[in-house]
Amino acid sequence: MNFLSLIESKRDGRVLEAAQIKEVISAYVAGKIPDYQMSAFLMAVYFRGMDTRETSALTLAMRDSGEVLQFPKDHRPLADKHSTGGVGDKVSLPLAPLLACLGMRVPMISGRGLGITGGTLDKLESIPGFNTALDSEQIVALVQSVGCVICGQTMRMVPADKAMYALRDVTGTVPSIPLITASILSKKLAENLQALLLDVKFGAAAFMPTLEKANELASAMVNLGNDCGVNTRALITGMDAPLGRAAGNWLEVKESVECLEGGGPADLRGLVLVCAAHLLVQTNLASSIADGRELAEKCLDSGKPRAKWNEMLAAQGADLPAFEKKLQRSHTAPVVLELDCAQDGFVAGCDARIIGEVVRDLGGGRLTKETVINPDAGVDLLPTLGDVVSFGSILCRAHAADKAQAESALSRLKTAFKISEFPPEPTRLIHEVIQR
Ligand code: URA
Repeated sequence: MNFLSLIESKRDGRVLEAAQIKEVISAYVAGKIPDYQMSAFLMAVYFRGMDTRETSALTLAMRDSGEVLQFPKDHRPLADKHSTGGVGDKVSLPLAPLLACLGMRVPMISGRGLGITGGTLDKLESIPGFNTALDSEQIVALVQSVGCVICGQTMRMVPADKAMYALRDVTGTVPSIPLITASILSKKLAENLQALLLDVKFGAAAFMPTLEKANELASAMVNLGNDCGVNTRALITGMDAPLGRAAGNWLEVKESVECLEGGGPADLRGLVLVCAAHLLVQTNLASSIADGRELAEKCLDSGKPRAKWNEMLAAQGADLPAFEKKLQRSHTAPVVLELDCAQDGFVAGCDARIIGEVVRDLGGGRLTKETVINPDAGVDLLPTLGDVVSFGSILCRAHAADKAQAESALSRLKTAFKISEFPPEPTRLIHEVIQR
């Protein structure tokens, strides 16, 4: 293969053959293409794009660069949800055990946070002893026995994405619809699912800045997912304000447990239930979204998903007594400072980007892959849009490793809130559902 000529073809806007794309991916994974040439290729794709057939070929070649999970025959459908990432987005944590209790098998292969969006694995690793590094035999065994597992990509799954994502991250080629589509779907297709729900976020703290762009990405993924035999739908959800009232790894685990106990913030509970309702319909376990929602709500409030969560934690090595003890503590960071409100009024804005940046800089996220996460850092007690606040009431709390970091966080957090004399227009969390 003459890879230089393929780079030049893409650079000049030509359409590549599926066989050529397949060859590129296998040569790259085999170490036969240097990173500088792959970077040039990715940049060419970034500028020239790929059509549906090229994106499909890229996705399948990436999926087939490693092993695809193989599950025994079972009446329980295999299903998963994937979010494109946001601030305070902890939906996966309560959703996986809920889906397992609703009769699905959930091999939830998740990622780490990078930049301002949190990562499910980082959140789970704030639980004492929890192991996110499982091999495929362990994943299959736990999915069969517990019903759900949340873990990282194995060394042998989708190695092409691992290497390409690392390159994209440092070459400015992440925000490309074909590359994101192939990256996300190659990993989800390697789970061998029957149903997949995508939560495509847009807004201040999302990959996709606008509803239009989110729609474009969601449609590409829904079409390709269905073409590959997976019943795929997407919710388009807003990410201008954080989801729930907490952002930061341990703080989000705590909030997820509240949700599993029938409480927690209304937006989090609402999104968890809607995700479950769609997946119930997609797997033919419910005949309508309304029926699915009712089933999911009953199940969530029965306490079974909370017990399933503990079962999953124990199966993945967590120290349950230490976890339950940690849950009892009001905070685990050495310093917690409150941000007081400077005026009376209504909360009309809470900028998820600023909150995400503050949480990242407190150590809750990473600027580079080498950053060591502080699991206890974060922000909580965030208000909901429309909340009435008054002079001196608490707007949020910053959880930090020391006083200087907490104080610096508070001065930045001040700029995240908009307090208005009048109540804001009600906002929708779910803007559209894309399905075929
Ligand atoms: N998440 C992924 O897994 N890949 C992307 O390209 C973007 C978000």
